[in-house]
Amino acid sequence: MVSRQPSRVEQHSREPNVGLGSNIDYVAMRDVSAGEELTVDYALLDDYDGHEIMACHCNSASCRRVIGGHDWRRRDLQRKYKVYFSWCLQRRIAEISGGTYE
Ligand SMILES: [Zn+2]
Repeated sequence: MVSRQPSRVEQHSREPNVGLGSNIDYVAMRDVSAGEELTVDYALLDDYDGHEIMACHCNSASCRRVIGGHDWRRRDLQRKYKVYFSWCLQRRIAEISGGTYE
């Protein structure tokens, strides 16, 4: 389901229902029910150095408990989210993967 209704995405989740379709649009990664809170995994967006990490309280079974600025480098997340990373991170993943990224 794709909704054109303006929505706010502020909550991180290890089992998010939206990712990035471009650098400005969120797209549903699965069907989203009317009224369901929109969530995104910050690994799809964030790339930062430093020691700042964030605790996650999404309560999903696959929660990784802490969110860091280099989570996008995790192969399990790259396999899970594929094209839903920001375009900038997709380019970085391709660089560290030898130039290819599905
Ligand atoms: Zn979590």
